[in-house]
Formats: sequence, C-alpha cells, structure tokens
Amino acid sequence: MFDDVADLYQQVILDHCKHPRNFRELTPCTCSAQGRNPLCGDQLKLFLNLDGDKITEAAFVGSGCCISKASASLLTDAVKGKTRNEAGAMFELVRELVTKGKAEGDVGKLAVFAGVHKFPARVKCAILSWHALMAALKGEGQPVSTENEHN
Ligand code: ZN
Repeated sequence: MFDDVADLYQQVILDHCKHPRNFRELTPCTCSAQGRNPLCGDQLKLFLNLDGDKITEAAFVGSGCCISKASASLLTDAVKGKTRNEAGAMFELVRELVTKGKAEGDVGKLAVFAGVHKFPARVKCAILSWHALMAALKGEGQPVSTENEHN
C-alpha cells in the first residue's frame, strides 16, 4: 500500500517536472524574487501578482532538477487565492513536511513531497521555491540562496 502511494507521488512530481504549470514570466507583476540552490544547481525566479493582500497570480521560470521544478509548479497552483498570511502558514507546513515527512495541517497536493525527507540533499530542492515566495512577499530585492554564500 505504501509503495503504491509512493509511486503515485512520484508520478505527480514527474508530471509537474515535465509539464510545469504557470511556467512563464509575469510582466508586469507586483513582486518577484530569485532563488538558487548551489548544491544542486537549481535556480528559479518567482513572480506574483497581488490584489491587496491576496495572491491573484503566481508564475515561475528557471531550471533545475525535477524536485525543484515540480515544487515551484505546485507552489504556483497552491498559493493562488491565498493571502500573505495563508501563504506564510503554507510555507511553514511545507518546511515541516519535507524535513519530517508529515505536517500538522492540510497541505493538499503538496503532500507529494512527504517522501523528500528521506533524502536530505533533496530538501533544499523542494523548499527553494518557497524561500523565493517568502522573499517576494517581503519585497526583498536580493536573490535568496539555500546556502550561506560565505561558507
Ligand atoms: Zn535540485
């Protein structure tokens, strides 16, 4: 049973990797942020449109491994219609999910990343787009990195 679920999760990730949703630039956009994960070579740029406090549109461009692309693809679907606070809460849940394998809350389709916790090197790939999301919402102009540049 568990293997079936794992297979299904892998299929969803592969599908979003090969056919990423919302894979385009948004111009103009309310805010955007770049993220990169030097350990894997993932890099992406996330674009958001906001109406007041609500995210009305999310899109991304970039290149990287399957996990990072699938994560960004699912993110752009997941945050649409959410407020800043709701998106922030979702970030916390996803971080919990990919580091522990489960989260104390409803993560919807993002549950496909639960298996990532077994592969510590992949956690940063899965969380990269979420760091970019938080940076975009905070309006930070600096690119975010999963690594401390001075290390
Ligand atoms: Zn990666």
